[in-house]
Amino acid sequence: MASPLGLFGGTFDPVHFGHLRLAAEMREAFRLERVVFLPAGHPWQRGRDTWAAGAERVRLLELAIAGEPAFAVDDREVRRPGPTYTVDTLSEFRREAGPDVPLVFLCGTDAFARVETWHRWESLFGLAHFAVAVRADDADWHARGPGAIPRALWPRVTMSLKDLASAPAGRIMTFAMTPLAISSTALRGLVQAGSTIRYLTPDPVADYIRDHGLYATDTRPLSPDPASR
Ligand code: ATP
Repeated sequence: MASPLGLFGGTFDPVHFGHLRLAAEMREAFRLERVVFLPAGHPWQRGRDTWAAGAERVRLLELAIAGEPAFAVDDREVRRPGPTYTVDTLSEFRREAGPDVPLVFLCGTDAFARVETWHRWESLFGLAHFAVAVRADDADWHARGPGAIPRALWPRVTMSLKDLASAPAGRIMTFAMTPLAISSTALRGLVQAGSTIRYLTPDPVADYIRDHGLYATDTRPLSPDPASR
């Protein structure tokens, strides 16, 4: 079977070392040929738009992964009009990769705990595997452990890497990455307070945010499609 491809969805508003470390550790653990970062266009569950525009978040990601040939940024969700649904993106990748290539969607425990609320969530597991990184700052996960995973999905959970490599989709694995309690929310708060974000994100990202005045004030428009939540 072909090498698995990693797909990493998020708002990346902005990207930080928690994201990059997750991608690097998951790539090695799951022997992913590449990890494709997929910044969301309009994350419909958040109710408001992102802080930085899609093109800015794509640029920050490009700066963050420069020089890492195993990482790529794909801006299809930013270009797609309307709300961003992961199921649409996974369907596109499945069509492009063919039926046999294992697709592994990467996410943190906080995101995955809400997977039952995602658009057409039951279809997701026919399209990709899910590799779920335990997030250091996810109090709910640390209180409940794997019980935080929706019960309907428990039969899909596996401890065996072979299960991920030998099927194109359908399994869930958790992964204890190096705990890094970094969030985009914290970075935005630091920028607004006039504090440094160095050593929380790559220097070129910190420099770009400073030089372009990103995150200094909240200029977000209301969500373009609030009725769809
Ligand atoms: P925000 O603070 O704006 O909610 P965030 O830091 O959670 O942002 P996202 O872009 O929403 O960043 O995250 C994309 C994915 O990366 C999610 O699946 C999230 O769980 C995961 N993730 C983000 N930060 C970390 C971290 N420090 N450790 C592990 N996983 C993380």
